[in-house]
Amino acid sequence: MLNVIVTGKIAEDGLKMLEDIALVTVIENPTSSELVKALPTADAILHKIGKLPAHLLEQAPKLKIIARHGVGLDDLDLDYIKSKGIKLTTTDNANSNAVAELTIGLIISLNRRIVEARKKLMTAGFWQREDLMGRELAGQTLGLIGFGRIGSRVAEFAEVLRMKVIVHDPFSTNLPPSIPRVAIDELLAVSDVVSVHCPLIDNTRGMLNSTTLPLMRKGALLINTARGGIVDEAQVIRMVVNGQLAGAALDVFSVEPPSISPNLEEHNNLIFTPHIAAMTLQTQNKMATMAAMEIKNYFGR
Ligand code: NAD
Repeated sequence: MLNVIVTGKIAEDGLKMLEDIALVTVIENPTSSELVKALPTADAILHKIGKLPAHLLEQAPKLKIIARHGVGLDDLDLDYIKSKGIKLTTTDNANSNAVAELTIGLIISLNRRIVEARKKLMTAGFWQREDLMGRELAGQTLGLIGFGRIGSRVAEFAEVLRMKVIVHDPFSTNLPPSIPRVAIDELLAVSDVVSVHCPLIDNTRGMLNSTTLPLMRKGALLINTARGGIVDEAQVIRMVVNGQLAGAALDVFSVEPPSISPNLEEHNNLIFTPHIAAMTLQTQNKMATMAAMEIKNYFGR
């Protein structure tokens, strides 16, 4: 019988597919000690959450395949995985639409002050609509850092909303002629909204920091639905609180869950969400079944 570890809670359909072919151990909140117990017999891991550094993977001598539930690989020791010939798969594209939709939702929410409007109406019966004047997206410049599966989907939506899209991505080969490729400094200087869609890798870690973030236009917005660690969150928060930025929305943090000061509650133009960009029923189902299928196919079951 095959042994499969699942890190995190996955959609029922994916779990059932695995249970048909294997003995499945679901570790909902994976800690090192729980993983160490389960890894020695594991033939496969369906990896949703938690970190899998080399010292943990070394505990799994039978491991043949890691099927990533998602696309981010920053939780895995890729050198170790490669050196042991372990197959690594991702659920490419399964979550692009969900992340892109949330990104657009956050951009609209900040521009139209939805959080503030709700709070004022609920707490004070506030009806001074002139004090809740928003901004339309049409005509604004959206600067995308990263133009892969998610960045390009965000661009599609943004163009329908009549935003002008510009991109910083040194590697993408699929930029349409209508979208200019610019250097990072130029993107930061001219964008009304900057949205991050690159992976967390060596060349992006700390990319938006206390030197680069101040290059953003006064009154611009910053959105990060990619990975914490690319953006210096403390610097973003300082810039929103002191009015240099009109707002920011962070779905991802360098440490998750983050510790957020309760003093920030009054700042309605700071939206924090707990890494929910891919948390839709459709996407969770797609990711679980795609990852389970990779494991099934690998073992020819
Ligand atoms: P992708 O690989 O399709 O695209 C990433 C793009 O980033 C590529 O085009 C690449 O050329 C570009 N890039 C690499 N280095 C760069 C740099 N230095 N500057 C600018 N661009 C650079 O990945 P994707 O599917 O679009 O996902 C993007 C990221 O979004 C993932 O790596 C993941 O970390 C994150 N993500 C977050 C969630 C969430 O729940 N919040 C869900 C899915 C993905």
